[in-house]
Amino acid sequence: MIIDLKQPIFSKIGEVADNLGLECYVVGGYVRDLLLKRPSKDIDVVVVGSGIMMAEEFAKSIGKGAHLSVFKTYGTAQVKFRDSEVEFVGARKESYQKESRNPIVENGTLEDDQLRRDFTINAMAICLNKARFGELVDPFGGVRHLELKMIKTPCNSDVTFSDDPLRMMRAIRFATQLGFFLEESTFEAIYANRERIKIITKERIIVELNKIMESERPSVGFVLLDKSGLLPLILPELERLKGIEKRHGKGHKDNFLHTLKVLDNVAEKSDDLWLRWAALLHDIGKPATKQWDEQAGWTFKNHNFIGYKMIPSIFRNMKLPLGEPLKFVQKMVLLHMRPIVLSEEEITDSAVRRLLFDAGDDIDSLMILCEADITSGNQEKVDMFLANFQKVRQKLDEVEQKDRIRNFQPPIKGEEIMRLFDLPPGRVVGELKMQLKDAILDGVIPNEYESAFQLLLKLAKEQGLAPKC
Ligand code: ATP
Ligand code: MG
Repeated sequence: MIIDLKQPIFSKIGEVADNLGLECYVVGGYVRDLLLKRPSKDIDVVVVGSGIMMAEEFAKSIGKGAHLSVFKTYGTAQVKFRDSEVEFVGARKESYQKESRNPIVENGTLEDDQLRRDFTINAMAICLNKARFGELVDPFGGVRHLELKMIKTPCNSDVTFSDDPLRMMRAIRFATQLGFFLEESTFEAIYANRERIKIITKERIIVELNKIMESERPSVGFVLLDKSGLLPLILPELERLKGIEKRHGKGHKDNFLHTLKVLDNVAEKSDDLWLRWAALLHDIGKPATKQWDEQAGWTFKNHNFIGYKMIPSIFRNMKLPLGEPLKFVQKMVLLHMRPIVLSEEEITDSAVRRLLFDAGDDIDSLMILCEADITSGNQEKVDMFLANFQKVRQKLDEVEQKDRIRNFQPPIKGEEIMRLFDLPPGRVVGELKMQLKDAILDGVIPNEYESAFQLLLKLAKEQGLAPKC
């Protein structure tokens, strides 16, 4: 098969290779994505010979504007120019030892190099030398497997996954990203080798997990992680959401399946990775708070608060970032019940102001999460909830326009209270501040300085305090 490589960069690389008398191919993910008509920016080139020398010559041939980086230890080199990034590597043969995912590497042929790759669809190469320009080299049926939408290893799957267990995560990630299925023996080998995932660092696992999270339907990946037995090894807290318990014939919903539905619902509305993480973890506190109550049936009281408390250790274990993303996910999980509760009662201005105050600029994300959380099979119920949410959204807009609560700072600060009444920092100042905030959020006074000042004088007087100046 001849592939039409349109970009001029490919014939340029081929020319340089011809001058050096080296065989040269574009390989791996770029070829896969080209055949799938998916966008792909990084180009991997395999040279039968020295990848570094090839990169140096290629950079020289472009001249100004090319930026060369050489990675001697890995035997690779990268050339960046304009918006292209080309990685050059010499064809290699790999062999593995039991304890490590780092192979012993020797120089090899193109075939050796294709054989070391993880999946048949990632092992195709296109020749760049002039005489064979565009010729597809597909020894393991990659094209056919693309048509079948199938992920399969080129060699014995057991050996492939045992050699480098990260490939198990990659298999599931590609299945999720591309909407492919895992060929049977490939899937069975993941199940058989699942414990080997323990030799992979958390940092590498999270890269793959985040790619699953960023896919169109992330649930596909989590179902596969569950079925392959990897889930309890990488995210045990999520595994514990599985299952239904019954008492007197009354069951609760399966919180794992519910969570996956919420995750897909959020993914339909937002590309924000951290909002997707919030969806994945929003009910993580449920197993710990589950109780049977003779009157109310199954309850999960305070599961949002318990979930909020669990999230830092989950982030730490998974090596997820501990700054803003952690704070955001915690906030979403803590607040995820608020709009629902609000929509079930009469929607008062005061409750809306409090929600706006607590959610701040994240109110829109919170509303997406809450709407995604309605997963009942009863369409009438869903419609009713969504209609109520519409009312909440409307009220949020009205109150925000009127009272500007979103990024509200109380009009009188603690220092001013201390100065005014000559008070040291402490409980009294804190309480006065809190009473002012509550009065504004409850609509007792408007959100402005003069009214807050008058109320402060009155509250202080009740405590026997008089202004000093
Ligand atoms: P993407 O760039 O979308 O993540 P990709 O397939 O290009 O997908 P890369 O990590 O960029 O993935 O790797 C480039 C190529 O290197 C792959 O297509 C595959 O041929 C090979 N490869 C990468 N990681 C492994 C691995 N762990 N085991 C075997 N081959 C691998
Ligand atoms: Mg790539």
